[in-house]
Amino acid sequence: MVLNIITEPNPALHKAARFLAPEEVKSDEIQKLISDLFETMYEKEGVGLAAVQAGRPLHICVIAGNYAKDKKDLVLINPKIKPASIFKEWGEEGCLSVPDVYGKVKRRKKIKVTALDKTGQQINFTASDFFARIIQHETDHLNGILFIEKAKGLHAVEPRL
Ligand code: ZN
Repeated sequence: MVLNIITEPNPALHKAARFLAPEEVKSDEIQKLISDLFETMYEKEGVGLAAVQAGRPLHICVIAGNYAKDKKDLVLINPKIKPASIFKEWGEEGCLSVPDVYGKVKRRKKIKVTALDKTGQQINFTASDFFARIIQHETDHLNGILFIEKAKGLHAVEPRL
C-alpha cells in the first residue's frame, strides 16, 4: 500500500520517533509498515524514507538497494551512527517531505552504523559517500530533524508533473 507522505510545515516532522523493542519488529504491523514504506519510496522515486514521513512516529527507515553497499534494499530500525572518518562533505539533497526544494548539506563522508534489521537482529556496518549521506538524512528524520535546517543554498525547482 502506498502511504501518504506528510510535508512541511507539519509538527510531526519535528518530533523524535519512538524506538522499537526487538520483539516488536517481527509483528505483522511492523512488517506491513516496512513493506509499505518500500512501496511508497519506490512509487515516489525517493532513495530513502523514514516512518516519520508516513505519519508513523517509529524509529524505522528504508533505503533503496541501488544505493546500499550490497545493492539490497535496506531496513534500519533504531539506527545509531558514529563517525568513521574526520572528513565531511557538502552535497545536494532533497526530501519527499519538502517537495521541490534542494540545498547543500554537510555530512560525514564515512560512518559506522548499528541497527536492527527487519528480523530484529543487530547489524553493524560502515557506509560511505552517498550511501552514508542517505543514512544520515533518514536518521535525522527519526530524530525530528529536516535537511532544510542544516542546508545552505536552499532553492526551489519547478514541480515535476
Ligand atoms: Zn527526507
